[in-house]
Amino acid sequence: MKKTQIIYMDPSRIDGDKLAHPAKLLREGATVVFPTETVYGLGANALSKEAVGKIFVAKGRPSDNPLIVHIAERCELEALVSDVPEAAEALMAVFWPGPLTMIFRKSDAVPEIVTAGLDTVAVRMPSHPLAKRLIKMAGVPVAAPSANLSGKPSPTREEHVLKDLFGKVDCIVCGGETAVGLESTVLDVTGRVPVILRPGGVTRDQIASVTGACQIDEALLKSDSPLVPKSPGMKYTHYSPDADVFMAGGGIDEMVGAILGEAEELKAKGKKVGILATDENMGSYEGFTAVSLGSRQRPEEIASRLFMALRLFDEMKMDVILSETIEEEAIGRAVMNRLKKAAGNRWIERK
Ligand code: AMP
Ligand code: MG
Repeated sequence: MKKTQIIYMDPSRIDGDKLAHPAKLLREGATVVFPTETVYGLGANALSKEAVGKIFVAKGRPSDNPLIVHIAERCELEALVSDVPEAAEALMAVFWPGPLTMIFRKSDAVPEIVTAGLDTVAVRMPSHPLAKRLIKMAGVPVAAPSANLSGKPSPTREEHVLKDLFGKVDCIVCGGETAVGLESTVLDVTGRVPVILRPGGVTRDQIASVTGACQIDEALLKSDSPLVPKSPGMKYTHYSPDADVFMAGGGIDEMVGAILGEAEELKAKGKKVGILATDENMGSYEGFTAVSLGSRQRPEEIASRLFMALRLFDEMKMDVILSETIEEEAIGRAVMNRLKKAAGNRWIERK
């Protein structure tokens, strides 16, 4: 077990002296967890293959799953990529810093372990004040996947990180809850038209409003598609809690009815059932353990709580989680992408 140092810091009152230590650790090749506006990240010096290797060990991450490189300033990009397409330039001006990761052709400076041998590299500039300051002070680009054990939901709170990675990393910077709550949008900008490989906080319409057009990787559009997703991480059963997750669709009455029917049946069989609900329908689930993700009118709220709720139900040792679903538009597309992964795309069968 590693000695893990824990540093608490209020993101609205950053203490530069205190942050100098984790910054130095990053520069010298150690692993440091820090909050970003999407989820917590597990960082290491992206230019050192030894340092990046420690990330894969700490998470138990498969080596064919590439990492995102985080930078603090636009001028750091050139050293990492061989070419900056025009569309990327325009998108950066609007969405950086923020939850948009772009895929570029890589430069020789980026070790293969970061990109899992691909000739492209994923780069993002986070907007979280602690992440920005830490990366800037480290003075090196920081490769950072989500700070969870591989296969677990991404961490949106410091207690999630402590549970998964205490004793496995050198330092954890705790800075409260993350805002978006889902990982960044991954956008391939190497082709003629940008393609979303992973939906996230920045939506297709937002991207299209800058570039004129934006496609979504076809393998993401159909859950039963035989196509292999272009974003390597998307093929894993990511974000999956210990419990079996089943979704319910259709209109509100049909959806709530399916969940209630299934919950009754499972309860009769002695199963512990948790319901992922929304504010509007909480009243229907009396007598069951239900967590509201927020209002259906505010999908951002639902996005920010999804991973927290999945982890909460695991803490409660639920056998089965039954989940409502929301419209697959704007950030709802990212919510449904993560939920379908958690559920292994299983739905409550209508009888
Ligand atoms: P995580 O940081 O854990 O959310 O994972 C990063 C994800 O970004 C990976 O699982 C990939 O899906 C995606 N990604 C990173 N680098 C590339 C790349 N070069 N090409 C396509 N997708 C990438
Ligand atoms: Mg991840």
